[in-house]
Amino acid sequence: MNFSSKLLENAVAEFAKLPGVGQKTALRLVLHLLNQEKEDVEKFSGTISKLRNEIRFCSTCHNISDQQFCEICSSHKRDQSLICVVEDTRDVMAIENTSQYNGVYHVLGGLISPMDGIGPSDLQVDTLVERLSNDEVKEVIFALSATMEGDTTIFYLHKKLKQFNISISTIARGIAFGGELEYVDEITLGRSIATRVPYENSLSR
Ligand SMILES: [Zn+2]
Repeated sequence: MNFSSKLLENAVAEFAKLPGVGQKTALRLVLHLLNQEKEDVEKFSGTISKLRNEIRFCSTCHNISDQQFCEICSSHKRDQSLICVVEDTRDVMAIENTSQYNGVYHVLGGLISPMDGIGPSDLQVDTLVERLSNDEVKEVIFALSATMEGDTTIFYLHKKLKQFNISISTIARGIAFGGELEYVDEITLGRSIATRVPYENSLSR
């Protein structure tokens, strides 16, 4: 692409770094912004930069939050004895949308993937173990993707967690999780949480 302006070229290059945005789309978005009022563009860039600078992660579950503790962990209406382990924030949002789950979460921040050089120490594993040692947790539900990475992660975590006197269950596999979970319809997802099975049983099937 030949640009008549370096400023334009730089802006397009920044937008093209976003996932799913190619050069043409980036140019369209930038030209759109140029047509907006200056204040609106200020607000746009200010919102993004505020998000990046001020966002926090819940000290308990590591979900994205505005406070030290997220609304779910702080709520007295949530069952703190039930922890659903998920890959990222999008999974929390998808499960919350089903209105079928009343427990709390633990966001791992990824899955174990030796191919990509991601090991247990890159994930929020220690804090999960810590929660089980301190809190009155009765059940942990794995809601991770039915991929090799998901399986590896569950296998690893199960070994770590079975020392505790808790139930360990997994939601119906075959459901796309980990980012793709947002595309699963709410009824199917809600049902898979309600009909979760003990992890040991899921292995023998
Ligand atoms: Zn939290």
